[in-house]
Amino acid sequence: MTSALPSLIVLGPPGVGKGTQAKRLAERLGLEHLSPGQLLRDALASGRPLEDNVRAAMAVGELVPNEIIDRLVQERLEQLGPQRGLVLDGYPRTQQQAETLRGMLARLGRLERRPVVLWLEAPREELMRRLRHRAAQEHRPDDNERAIARRLELHESKAPSLLATLARWTDVARIDASPPADLLTEKILNTLRERAAAGGGATSVGEQPMLAGSSRRPNSGSMSWAAIPVRDELPPAS
Ligand code: AMP
Repeated sequence: MTSALPSLIVLGPPGVGKGTQAKRLAERLGLEHLSPGQLLRDALASGRPLEDNVRAAMAVGELVPNEIIDRLVQERLEQLGPQRGLVLDGYPRTQQQAETLRGMLARLGRLERRPVVLWLEAPREELMRRLRHRAAQEHRPDDNERAIARRLELHESKAPSLLATLARWTDVARIDASPPADLLTEKILNTLRERAAAGGGATSVGEQPMLAGSSRRPNSGSMSWAAIPVRDELPPAS
């Protein structure tokens, strides 16, 4: 039998800090970080051939076709060792991807523990501020004003159905991601600990209420987080 493997899913609008937080969580919790967006950027940067529609979609802030992204994620999931937990970053982004992911995780024995979705949120002005800052620092081709607007719009239009789909088979924690990155990491780790301590039944995890329907299931699997080694000491709760 496959042992219960922890899965974290980090989602939210562009600029909210998904990538930074997902990387840090993977490091602190000893999980594999899987970001389709980063894999695609790496492929583009290294000159590997990518279908033209992928390059074009990314440049203007559109989503890459499901079948390409799904395949990418599936390949990586299949390569993961049997004991490796994971942090998915920026996937799934649509209801359809969420359903595909559920099937993949189930087939790989990774649904024994209910995945935790960290749904990061921040006011639009803060997102724009961070994206402009990142554009100046990192020169991501899709951090131009038009592509940013499109990515925000897409996120907002997909969010309700994506959240509703995920709430059926994951525990969704909505988190105010306005604090600076370091504080936010600690806040997320505390949220995971609180969930573990509460045994998955608490509605008071994090600063935002859990999504309706996601907090009161018996055997939610949230206890799994109690067993995860946190690599650095967390600062004492103040
Ligand atoms: P990200 O690094 O997550 O902001 O993603 C950058 C770009 O990669 C997105 O704007 C999309 O063009 C593409 N991408 C990343 N993840 C997905 C996904 N789950 N579905 C479709 N396209 C994606």
